[in-house]
Amino acid sequence: MSQRLDHRTAVYPGTFDPIHDGHLDIITRGSRLFDQLIVAVGINPEKSPFFTLEERVSLAQRVVSHLKNVQVRGFTGLAVGFAREVGARVMLRGLRTTSDMENEFTMSLMNLNLDPEIETVFLMAKEPFSHLSSTLLRQIAQFGGNLDKFLPQEVSIALQERARDRLARKT
Ligand code: ADP
Repeated sequence: MSQRLDHRTAVYPGTFDPIHDGHLDIITRGSRLFDQLIVAVGINPEKSPFFTLEERVSLAQRVVSHLKNVQVRGFTGLAVGFAREVGARVMLRGLRTTSDMENEFTMSLMNLNLDPEIETVFLMAKEPFSHLSSTLLRQIAQFGGNLDKFLPQEVSIALQERARDRLARKT
């Protein structure tokens, strides 16, 4: 644990399956708070993702390319481990609802136990995005609903294609 950590660098970890406007709002606001923001696309062993890790990284890279102090990286393992690896002192998370709060509260305390030098900082979701989740968007895509209001166009196209492929494989 000898590596120096920088409070001006933050990591924003998540599954991003796929990245949507709520995530992008947190990324944009986070990019104004920190000198460097690393969007860390991870693997959740409890979820079977729609998109591979490489696809999720690539979609995220395409939609944050206008933000010069934002990078996107894939990682495996613990988010605190990745934050330390890149020298970040802060992990950024978004909060939508009180149920998010319960999960995030436990997770942030566990992360603090795992690495007491890394702090989690929360930003509240802006009202227009507070109902958005990747899970809901994947469900809407599978039922052929319109996603354009919630996702950048290229992500929306990729999600609709993936939903169609998955449906075709099931039928
Ligand atoms: P995870 O699998 O860790 O829940 P997600 O990719 O769903 O990862 O989310 C990553 C982070 O973005 C989490 O902190 C989550 O609370 C936050 N987030 C997700 N959706 C929104 C939203 N609509 N507005 C703001 N933050 C959000």
